[in-house]
Order: sequence, then C-alpha cells, then structure tokens
Amino acid sequence: MEYTDPTTTGSTIPSSSSSLAPSLPTAVQRPCAACKILRRRCTDRCVLAPYFPPTEPFNFIIAHRVFGASNIIKSVQDLPESRRADAVSSMIYEANVRMCDPVYGCAGAISQLHKQLCDLQTELAATQAELAIVQCQQQQLNESVIFLDGSNSASAWESHWN
Ligand SMILES: [Zn+2]
Repeated sequence: MEYTDPTTTGSTIPSSSSSLAPSLPTAVQRPCAACKILRRRCTDRCVLAPYFPPTEPFNFIIAHRVFGASNIIKSVQDLPESRRADAVSSMIYEANVRMCDPVYGCAGAISQLHKQLCDLQTELAATQAELAIVQCQQQQLNESVIFLDGSNSASAWESHWN
C-alpha cells in the first residue's frame, strides 16, 4: 500500500551550490514523514529523512508518541550513521509493542519468550534423559541377548508360556 505522489517524482532538489563554500541546507520538495508531522521544514540534511520516508508516516507517528521527536532525533544523532537504521527500526518496533501493551511493552514480549525458552529447555532436558534411559535399556537388552549364546530359545520359550 505504498503511496506515490505523481506530482513529485524526485524526493530531493539536487544541490546546485556544491561548488560554493559551506552550503546551506536546501529544502526538499517532499518532506520526510517526521518533518511533515512536526510541521517543520525538511532539508537535504534532515537527520530523520533516511529513516522516515514520506510513504510511511505511521512509523513516525507511533515512535513520536512513545519516545518523543526530540528523543528520537537525539538518539539518531548520537549514533554513527551505520547504526542509525537499526536504532530507528528497533525504536519503531518497541513503540508498536508499547502501543499494544502499555504496561509491559517489549519487556512483556521478552518475558514471555524467556518463559517459553525455559519451558522448552526443561522439555529438552527431560526428553534427553528419557532417551538416555531407553538407550541404556537397549544396550542391556543387546548384552543379555549376546550372553544367551545368540539363541532365541529363551524368548521363544517365554512367548510360548505367556
Ligand atoms: Zn525531514
């Protein structure tokens, strides 16, 4: 369900002042979702534009509601560029979960998964113990068959009388 505005095919105005001394930020034709919602001028240097494209406004609305725009901006600015996309996507994820579970947020999901992990580890340990017992019984059975000189007479005799 991606919205594309046919009137604005290019998302940014190409910087024409690259040859001049320290260029000023230039306004973009189509503001990012963050700037649009915050009703501020979006420039080619907007720190949020790469992570909140105009086509996905709900991601910013939810993250803004939970974390606040200034906290999002500060978090993004404090990180190296290579880590920013991951940070934003985790904030969006956390905000979504917080909206669904206002009491526990992500901690609720983590706690539930942790409990599930503990239950499965317990189940695995019990199954491994059962397997060890069965293997041990099988080994004892094999040893007793060998001990009976390889003949099936004993079991045949038993089944006859049982
Ligand atoms: Zn922007």
